[in-house]
Amino acid sequence: MMELTVNTSGSYQIIIARGCMDQIGARAGKLFKPGAKAVVISDSNVLPLYGERIMDSLKAEGFSPSLLSFPAGEESKRLSCIEKMYAECAAQKLTRSDFIVALGGGVTGDMAGFAAATYLRGISFIQIPTSLLAQIDSSVGGKTGVDLPQGKNLVGAFHQPALVLIDPDTLSTLPPRYFSDGMAEAIKYGCIKSRELFDMIVREDISQNIEELIYRCVDSKRAVVEQDEFDTGERMLLNFGHTFGHALEKLYDFKKLSHGEAVGIGMVMMARCGENAGITKAGTANEIIAALKKYKLPTRDEMPVDKVLAATALDKKSSGSMISLIMLKEIGESFVDQVYRGRLAELTGVL
Ligand code: NAD
Repeated sequence: MMELTVNTSGSYQIIIARGCMDQIGARAGKLFKPGAKAVVISDSNVLPLYGERIMDSLKAEGFSPSLLSFPAGEESKRLSCIEKMYAECAAQKLTRSDFIVALGGGVTGDMAGFAAATYLRGISFIQIPTSLLAQIDSSVGGKTGVDLPQGKNLVGAFHQPALVLIDPDTLSTLPPRYFSDGMAEAIKYGCIKSRELFDMIVREDISQNIEELIYRCVDSKRAVVEQDEFDTGERMLLNFGHTFGHALEKLYDFKKLSHGEAVGIGMVMMARCGENAGITKAGTANEIIAALKKYKLPTRDEMPVDKVLAATALDKKSSGSMISLIMLKEIGESFVDQVYRGRLAELTGVL
């Protein structure tokens, strides 16, 4: 078992251990009063796989849980789905001493977390992430929210979980494309924070070492979030590859490329820009390409660069004529560079 503590506005534990989802009752018993109510929220894929185990464990500790499911997929990540969560919380008469459990991938975590952040102006919630992306990234750090028709994650709140239980055994049922998707984010952590992690991803058989991978990624996220809980500086580093990645996702209307695939291509593009400007060590983009290929992730896209560039105009790291770029000095060392948008156009000249 591996364990981490996150010290933000609220301090909480992250447990990484095979089978640990069955400990939810016992661990919640240390946080909530006996007999507390819980609403367990999960999607239509994950609930049939793991819902019963969570319910059994909570009931065995004397909690009164109910289950709520929503159709799997990003399309569900909207306010109408949150309303159903509020309705279930109200039907179960949840009070501020009760809690929500988010059981699933990043979509479930973001939405159940947002419902918890806002129901009764905030109740506690526990994260049980089941996708690789959620285990290494989204379940930690307290960003919750939903999409609007106008864009992704436009409504949300910072609300830290009370506990995160990461059970790597759940990855055995995760479809391979989503596993690769999560690996793109793991490669990103290596790029921005740790050469050692990057080398581990490239050289080792990750399936044999998944707990170590999760631990290292989560520990990197913990460090960043502790320094910048509300995303005003250091936390921006987590957006490496996202400037071009988001632009590509949007240009394909979120259909052709998954988030991880788009971020992977975005990381290669940004590393090339950095190499072109003499900021990034030569050969870095090729190293990232090799890592992405190992996990069957695309490394380039045929979308014309001027279109990608134009689509970065709506980037949330853009402000007026300036844009914040996350650049690498080399693998494992990153920084935020504020540049004029015109400079970004120059840098992409090599792409
Ligand atoms: P997801 O929740 O849609 O999960 C991907 C798919 O895998 C879904 O079909 C889901 O049902 C399925 N699934 C999940 N776990 C499974 C398992 N163990 N077995 C079988 N199927 C399983 O998406 P995701 O990729 O986990 O997360 C993407 C979301 O995370 C996006 O909405 C993104 O905005 C958000 N996100 C949030 C943060 C944050 O800090 N809050 C960070 C990164 C991404």
